[in-house]
Amino acid sequence: MTLSLHGVGIDGSRPVAIGEAFMLNREPSLVPAQIPAHQVQVELDRLDAALACARRHLEEVRRQIPAGTPKHIAEFIDAHLLMLADSALVDATRDLIRERSVNASWALQSQRDTLVEVFDRMEDAYLRTRRDDVDHVVRQIQLFLDPATDADLLGDADVAGRVIVAEDLTPADTILLRHRGVAAFVIEHGGPMSHTAILARSLDIPAVMGVHRAVQRLRQGELLVVDAETGTVLTELEPAILEHYRARLANFDAHRRELRRLVREPSATRDGVPVVLLANLELPEDVAAARDNGAAGVGLYRTEFLYMNRDALPDEEEHLETYLGIIRGLDGIPLTIRTLDLGADKQIPDTSFHPARSNPALGLRAIRLCLQEPALFLPQLRAILRASAYGPVRIMIPMISCMAEVNAVLGLIAEARREMRRERVAFDPLMPVGGMIEVPAAALMAGALARRLDFLSIGTNDLIQYTLAIDRVDDTVSYLYDPLHPAVIRLIKHVIDAAASTRTRVSMCGEMAGDPRYTPLLLGLGLRELSMQPGSLLEVKDRVRRCDLGALARTVADVVDHIDEMPAQVLLDKLEACVEP
Ligand code: PEP
Ligand code: MG
Repeated sequence: MTLSLHGVGIDGSRPVAIGEAFMLNREPSLVPAQIPAHQVQVELDRLDAALACARRHLEEVRRQIPAGTPKHIAEFIDAHLLMLADSALVDATRDLIRERSVNASWALQSQRDTLVEVFDRMEDAYLRTRRDDVDHVVRQIQLFLDPATDADLLGDADVAGRVIVAEDLTPADTILLRHRGVAAFVIEHGGPMSHTAILARSLDIPAVMGVHRAVQRLRQGELLVVDAETGTVLTELEPAILEHYRARLANFDAHRRELRRLVREPSATRDGVPVVLLANLELPEDVAAARDNGAAGVGLYRTEFLYMNRDALPDEEEHLETYLGIIRGLDGIPLTIRTLDLGADKQIPDTSFHPARSNPALGLRAIRLCLQEPALFLPQLRAILRASAYGPVRIMIPMISCMAEVNAVLGLIAEARREMRRERVAFDPLMPVGGMIEVPAAALMAGALARRLDFLSIGTNDLIQYTLAIDRVDDTVSYLYDPLHPAVIRLIKHVIDAAASTRTRVSMCGEMAGDPRYTPLLLGLGLRELSMQPGSLLEVKDRVRRCDLGALARTVADVVDHIDEMPAQVLLDKLEACVEP
């Protein structure tokens, strides 16, 4: 009998995949990793560096414990800090490296096993639980010792056409996997707006996230159907069900071919109002897909991916080179470069920029981090300015929450311009500077921001997260993630109206913009510019061309007044009446 597992579906334009399971196993290997004698010191140093990082991390966690927290919580961290210096763990691991010429990871794991065995044999139930402390501390050190990516774990395995099943997959890993032709992802953790999900969507790889215990319940090599539309993973497939999904895939491919005829058609509503459809880029390589799907420009280039899967930070020249490559590929259509949005679910290996915090989504991320770390920000600002001499470039600031941030960025840009004039370096003095509306505070003060900036772009992924107080990467609350929540629609409407009254360009670049179900609503609310992952462009263009904007504007005005009592589906159905079937 067919079995099904459930999670949250992430369907880009491709909703279904059929393929064999490929299990990513994160368990550390116990194969002794013998090393040559001259390597011993390197491994000892590696262990020391990992211990130092683990110590810094725990000290940071301890500092953040709020006053009034029960004492035993801090004591718990103290115990872990002590264990980091405990000779039974640390010196014994060092001895193993030296005496047996093995690598640090193997030595640590081996010493962990020895200690755990000792605790397991203890009569005293309390002492037996201390084995968990050993485990936690060792895991903490391992994290810094071997920040192995899932792609590393794959080795040379042929994963083309297969379904990757993993506990977790970071955005960085997803990028590494993108070229290996995987058919789908089934992930135990992560919400629908996590960057892993966004990447999967932009790669057109169906995914189901939040599938609890998937790694235990699925087997290597078994045939799976991944239905990203319903968030279901099916195994032990009955022939009729498999046949049904094969037919769905064939229909989908036929529909895709049909949409191709729209590539060169204008993007305008039935009553002739143009709607600008732009692409979101995760990586420079995405330019080809943007062009191929007829994008009128790039509305969001997420530059943080420039920082992933590497040790050193990119310098000004590397930024510039990357931007120039994209500008060349775009052949004259505009490029919106978003400045670094590191932090929260977009992490990089260099932990010095983002020490673990209890609440990273509300912490030092995006523009907050950039304003505190000039070494991170200024090379990028200068490179964007330099790139503007070579093509139509716009700069966009993420996660603005107050005017002081806007003023600070404008000040830095002005300073960079002065410096570049002195150096006789070319740039476009009129390069537009825009801001993302991702925080409710920014949405509510959109009028003031619009007067200060050249354009606004609504980032619904974060705007929804912050408005509804739900962590976008936490699958346990993803059922609350609702783009049609009345509070969200009101905020979006407020931003669009504020931009209109100041004649400021406004677009939307969150995932909502690329979901064809919402196209009539967004047009009816007044948006004329939408930016999305390239795979959605033609589907959305098809919807735009079927919309009667006059009728939509009237219907939206009418429904927005009653939105608090109106179930989301009724709202969408009413708008659907203004769309040609
Ligand atoms: C958003 O928040 O909607 C957005 C486009 O930015 P990101 O998804 O990169 O946080
Ligand atoms: Mg965002």
